[in-house]
Amino acid sequence: MHELHIQGLTKHFGDFVAVEDVSMTVRPDEVLCLLGPSGCGKTTTLRMIAGLEYATEGAVSFGDHPVTELSARDRNVAMAFQFYALYPDLTVAENLVFPLEAENASAGEKEQRLSEIADILQLGSVLERYPHQLSEGEKQRVAVGRCVIRSPNAFLFDEPLSRLDAKLRDEMRGSIRKILATLDRPTVIVTHDQLEAMTMGDRIAVMRDGKVEQVGRPLDVFERPQNTFVAGFIGTPQMNLIEGSCLSADENTISLSLNGERVTLAADQFEVKPKAGVSVTLGFRPRSVRETSEDGLRFADANVTLTENMGAETLVHCDWNGFAVRMLVPGGAYNEGDRVNLSVALGSLTLFGQDGERLTM
Ligand code: ATP
Repeated sequence: MHELHIQGLTKHFGDFVAVEDVSMTVRPDEVLCLLGPSGCGKTTTLRMIAGLEYATEGAVSFGDHPVTELSARDRNVAMAFQFYALYPDLTVAENLVFPLEAENASAGEKEQRLSEIADILQLGSVLERYPHQLSEGEKQRVAVGRCVIRSPNAFLFDEPLSRLDAKLRDEMRGSIRKILATLDRPTVIVTHDQLEAMTMGDRIAVMRDGKVEQVGRPLDVFERPQNTFVAGFIGTPQMNLIEGSCLSADENTISLSLNGERVTLAADQFEVKPKAGVSVTLGFRPRSVRETSEDGLRFADANVTLTENMGAETLVHCDWNGFAVRMLVPGGAYNEGDRVNLSVALGSLTLFGQDGERLTM
């Protein structure tokens, strides 16, 4: 099977640049999630891959076959939209096998594929029903099943779970993941939900303002964000990002100052060393903050301003000399107005430079 190649894909709507110079390759055994805030260009990118939107610049190909000049119909991709439409006068079984009619599949092939899909998506008991007799979750599963029943060059999903409530979304993520594993075709999913991207994607492309900020495996993007945007976007609760400055940098050590509090890091923790005098951003996850006065980056005598119960854990918002520091702790032993001494181990710090790009390894 062929890889999906996207090269320099760009889309202008008049003077507005919706997508700018997006390049990536998606392998046949791979699910790539396009993730980013509303309006960052995810759907436009997907529509250019599908041929529903012509690219202003750039190319799309499957293996060695360029398809940029082809219409959507001739690209042979399967696309499931956020607003699914089932044929109301056809049963679930008829809806599911509908795409196979155009491929002149034999009755045996249709039967076999239908039974596989119905099995994985747990639709076996509703095959003879009509769409109006289905729950929302069942309708969505039929829509996904109808998309994946044939074998196109690629599968494209636009927010496949967005219309479902939280409980159904949880269930569907598992079903979709299971079915994606059987497809063996490049698959691209657009989502603004990072949990969806983390659980369904083999890789994630994080987009902002039409550009791809970082592409990587979910855990890598979480653990090694490329810049402050990705650091702030990926992870719930959000990473703490606090501005400081570089006091000195030599071969062995880098000294930083954060509102007078000084920390010294080993130079070999850095991929790119900051210069003395420049501003830097220190990033650390709320989970890495502890109430101790141990060595590390210390926030002495911080003021608890808000506590948010998140189930088994509490997110504790603190103010330290005007800087907001969030700490995630098990249980709920804090109250507004408490004074606390916090610290973060130096190994848990991620440093970003003046331009927001990652400096540490
Ligand atoms: P969302 O998550 O809200 O669906 P998105 O990341 O999918 O957002 P797109 O739908 O790709 O974003 O839109 C990217 C930008 O391009 C947006 O600012 C949008 O307003 C703009 N845009 C999209 N389609 C058109 C169009 N046909 N004409 C003009 N501008 C458009």
